[in-house]
Amino acid sequence: MNLIIMGAPGAGKGTQAQIITDKLGIPAISTGDILRGAIKEGTELGRAARSYMDRGELVPDDIVIGMVKQYLSSERCKNGFLLDGFPRSIEQAESLARLGVKIDAVLAIEVDDEKIVERMSGRRVCPGCGASYHLKYNPPKTPGRCDRCSAELYARSDDNPETVRTRLATYHRQTEPVKKYYAGQGLLITVDGNQAIEEISKIILDALSRLGSKNDTDKK
Ligand code: ADP
Ligand code: AMP
Repeated sequence: MNLIIMGAPGAGKGTQAQIITDKLGIPAISTGDILRGAIKEGTELGRAARSYMDRGELVPDDIVIGMVKQYLSSERCKNGFLLDGFPRSIEQAESLARLGVKIDAVLAIEVDDEKIVERMSGRRVCPGCGASYHLKYNPPKTPGRCDRCSAELYARSDDNPETVRTRLATYHRQTEPVKKYYAGQGLLITVDGNQAIEEISKIILDALSRLGSKNDTDKK
């Protein structure tokens, strides 16, 4: 399956992406994780992206689209993928379509803005595998260490309340219209993200399983 997961910053995209891709055996491609990796390695891509990310704005399309194109053409995506954090604008959605990539479903996690700042201030992420934890809602088994790879967790610099507000505004202005774009193609599956992590995963996996059965029937 070729999937996209959408939602405001902190809606729980990365958390759900990990659960879904573990279950379906497909890779999760997070543009935010790739960009943070590039910054850490000090590459040209990272240097070009950094100031936009620090301000909570979108990194220019030419940088991000080229990056996604390269990942999607790799061998590991040949049996499907889940895109997390892309597309984030109508222009990006249109370029994805121009690449000839067929999307099976777009999952949109809806969370009230008031909840987002609390989620971000308690978020801790793994620099190794990108896993996302929360001090209160999803703590790691050993405080400060990733359950999956034992790396030391850190708080993202763009998770401070001021940058979070800019990121939310960027989301409402540039990314939310993408939901309508995919709804028009009959691909949008909306999920209430104000529930517990396990509840949300169950709803998503049930919806994807129904979609898989429907696609199999349609093929016959
Ligand atoms: P995104 O990838 O959309 O930015 P994350 O998956 O990193 O969001 O989640 C943001 C923060 O909220 C993390 O600290 C995560 O542990 C926490 N979180 C994710 N889903 C839920 C949920 N359903 N309820 C409470 N906290 C959640
Ligand atoms: P995320 O990890 O998804 O919260 O993304 C962190 C930051 O990376 C965003 O605030 C943007 O600055 C940048 N970013 C991630 N994905 C994209 C994208 N598809 N288009 C533009 N900028 C992006």
